[in-house]
Amino acid sequence: MPTPTPHPEILTIKPYVGGEAAVPGVARVIKLSSNEGAFGPPPGAIAAHTATAAKLHRYPDGGAKTLREAIGARFGLDPARIVCGAGSDDIIYALCLAYGGPGTNLIMSRHGFAIYAIAGTYARATIIKTPERNLTADVDAILAAVTPQTRLVFLANPNNPTGSMLPAAEITRLRAGLPDHVLLVLDAAYAEYVDRPDYEAGSALVDAGANTVMTRTFSKIFGLGGMRVGWAYAPPAIIDVLNRIRLPFNVNAPAQAAAIAALAEPGWVERSASHNRAERARLTATLTASGLKIWPSEGNFVLADFLTPEIATAADQFLRARGLIVRPMGAYHLPHCLRLTIGTTEECDLLAAALTDFQAQPARKIA
Ligand SMILES: *Cc1c(COP(=O)(O)O)cnc(C)c1O
Repeated sequence: MPTPTPHPEILTIKPYVGGEAAVPGVARVIKLSSNEGAFGPPPGAIAAHTATAAKLHRYPDGGAKTLREAIGARFGLDPARIVCGAGSDDIIYALCLAYGGPGTNLIMSRHGFAIYAIAGTYARATIIKTPERNLTADVDAILAAVTPQTRLVFLANPNNPTGSMLPAAEITRLRAGLPDHVLLVLDAAYAEYVDRPDYEAGSALVDAGANTVMTRTFSKIFGLGGMRVGWAYAPPAIIDVLNRIRLPFNVNAPAQAAAIAALAEPGWVERSASHNRAERARLTATLTASGLKIWPSEGNFVLADFLTPEIATAADQFLRARGLIVRPMGAYHLPHCLRLTIGTTEECDLLAAALTDFQAQPARKIA
């Protein structure tokens, strides 16, 4: 009997697997698997979210006007050039569906963020993954991969899961080398954590032309992953496209209220970034001293390199037995690595102690 059949490309998609949150039989778990901010949600965001409960019968503002104005004020951007989404994933999907399609291709770097390949395949584009150097996107490799069919280039900067970053000059060189009709999407989910002075999140390149988009999120430093709020800053013609195709009420009312309040939380971003800077350095130093290779990171996570998939899996099991949940990296062509989110000081201490113990095991020394 014939049955409904999706586009064949869809059945090639492996469903996205998020970070785990529980270990059977372990009472206290420490979730360091999804790069959620170390401090939980901003207190003002909790209060604002709660206050929306009495009005849950009302539709949200479909255009998220107040939220866009608050984002614009915070980042010095024109609210008319901002579109909000249910997480930046929502916007990534919309861009792929709008600009991809059969016969097109999408370029991303080999260890780039997994959602680009899922959304691009859903949009029936061919995914091209370009080689990296030292787990860092290679502009020359991306430019060399461009074909007449290329429509989209996705780059997370800094990248998840590697933590590596391209300086502004390299991104400018990338844009200059791409054909004008190719849309460059700069995913700056971790922008607030970056310390390097040669970093630019992407708004200057958005302003400089008609073919670059910057995406941002409330899921990381703003501590609102559960709310699903992200946004894009884009040229007017791309904003127009996104507003035509996004779900009319894509960001729900409690999420809008929480995001507006998170932006207003005094000192939140500064405190979170300085905590992250200190704890990331401390964790890196301790783990390096234990003999592990830790890749340099500009995000709120580090990639620990165990050199073989077997040792990485053993380390993951060792951590889970202590209730520490981190992220295995098989889906990112990095099965020999684990990605460790920077949590609170106590959580970092427990993680560092556990991995130091793992490294000190007799069997580990032989390996
Ligand atoms: C976490 C993350 C996002 C954010 O996704 P949301 O849908 O906004 O939660 C986007 N890009 C990268 C690279 C990420 O790591």
